[in-house]
Amino acid sequence: MSLKESCRVDLHIHSCLSPCAHLLNTPGNIIKRAVKLGLDCIAITDHNTAGNIPIALELAKGTGVNLIPAMEVETREEVHVLCYFPTLEALLAWDSIVKEHLPDLDNNEEFFGHQLLTDYTDQYIAKEGRLLAVATGLSLSDTVSAVTKLGGIAVPAHVDRPTNSILSQLGFIPRDVEIRILELSSNRAIDDYLRTHPELDSYLFLQGSDSHYLTDIGKCGGGDGFNLGGELGRLMSRFLEKNFF
Ligand SMILES: [Zn+2]
Ligand SMILES: [Zn+2]
Repeated sequence: MSLKESCRVDLHIHSCLSPCAHLLNTPGNIIKRAVKLGLDCIAITDHNTAGNIPIALELAKGTGVNLIPAMEVETREEVHVLCYFPTLEALLAWDSIVKEHLPDLDNNEEFFGHQLLTDYTDQYIAKEGRLLAVATGLSLSDTVSAVTKLGGIAVPAHVDRPTNSILSQLGFIPRDVEIRILELSSNRAIDDYLRTHPELDSYLFLQGSDSHYLTDIGKCGGGDGFNLGGELGRLMSRFLEKNFF
């Protein structure tokens, strides 16, 4: 089966397992919202964990919304990197690596927020006790090579932001790290950004909503979802199509 010419996606959404996300951002509610908006493909990208993804993949079955196994990891340099995988197995292998490199700190719910795991009925079933909103011990270079080795794609997140972006933390994009795609915040126009950053012209740009609230899902690319097509679409679909279309 082949991928359509383009599809509408939101590949940066946080579930209630991310401490900064709203409690109503359960996997079931996220998928329902994506169905309502007519999105073709979404990714739930929780901070440093894939805990809600197995359930979310089950809940997405038969809805017409393709869910990409994903995570937003924070590297040792405090760079946020979106990690997309072709299979749940590859994501879970990555999740084990991240777990090993998470600092052994407990979550302070009052300060950071709740970190909630859900079940097939979309009810809360457990809390993740370890603090997730923190830098792991993985370097950017190790992150990108491990994700790539597992068949995934690593995309530095919200590169235009003054914190937790590859440019805010490093000031440049290392040439020896295999990065082809950058994510830009949803409120920026890619063309405008490139006019002020011509040095980034050789990269492909993706936009996700980075939504922490249900109402923000799909708010990227100027409408209900980012239009994934062209060279970026072809690159992403090389691994999307074998599992999602
Ligand atoms: Zn982020
Ligand atoms: Zn995010």
